Amino acid sequence: AHDQLAQAQKMEALGQLTGGVAHDFNNLLMVVSGQAQLLRKKLQDDPRALRALDAIEASARRGEDLTRHLLAFSRRQRLQPTAVSLSDRAGALKELISAGLPSRLSICVDLPPSLWPVKVDPGELELALLNLAVNARDAMPAGGALTLVAENTTLEAGKHEDIQGDFVAISVSDTGVGIPPDILPKIFDPFFTTKDVDKGTGLGLSQVYGFAKQSGGTVTVSSELGHGTTITLYLPRSQAAPAEGGQGEQEEPATAV
Ligand code: ADP
Repeated sequence: AHDQLAQAQKMEALGQLTGGVAHDFNNLLMVVSGQAQLLRKKLQDDPRALRALDAIEASARRGEDLTRHLLAFSRRQRLQPTAVSLSDRAGALKELISAGLPSRLSICVDLPPSLWPVKVDPGELELALLNLAVNARDAMPAGGALTLVAENTTLEAGKHEDIQGDFVAISVSDTGVGIPPDILPKIFDPFFTTKDVDKGTGLGLSQVYGFAKQSGGTVTVSSELGHGTTITLYLPRSQAAPAEGGQGEQEEPATAV
């Protein structure tokens, strides 16, 4: 089990730190990319120099990816919950999670029309699902299936941590490598990763965890080594009806970039 208070404090401190650093760092990386592009024009006849530039630009892009993650992470304090219909957004969500996935994976999305609306920040929900899809992809290097399903669930008091009431349980499953039991307690920790330094940030699941908790829900994980993993988000039912397009009235939060 997680020590939730310690986790929340860790998150807040990290959020403040990373927000400031990531923003400045992103600006520096934009200078690196911009100047590299200028040099590319000058060095057109020098293949070795061009290869060096490729490496510079690839690293700058990687750095920009990383700072985007960090900014998203630091913004989590300011969630703007609204009524969101997963049913109405099934098509868009399928597109969102499929976009970055290789063709070796089969993708199945089942978000039936009967799902209750949930009260969440729609941008953070998308980010959480993307993070889960990326993890599922990385867990299936040789191919497999990713499944996104959701169902209405009523949790009784005392049965499920400290939450009770009506939730939509939305699960992302993969048929991948699974999570070893000894690392299972750490996967939601910020910066915990088993991936190569240029692949993982260790921030994906901590975003997922923070998002679910701050929405008034929770996350569970079940995993079997060699068979696959299912991560389930419990998101609270919204009493308000979502607006057309599956999303309630809500101003877009200002971005920090
Ligand atoms: P990152 O993906 O950058 O490593 P995350 O916080 O998303 O950061 O995940 C932390 C770690 O949890 C991963 O490095 C991996 O070891 C493990 N993990 C997460 N999702 C899965 C999954 N679907 N299958 C196997 N391992 C997973």
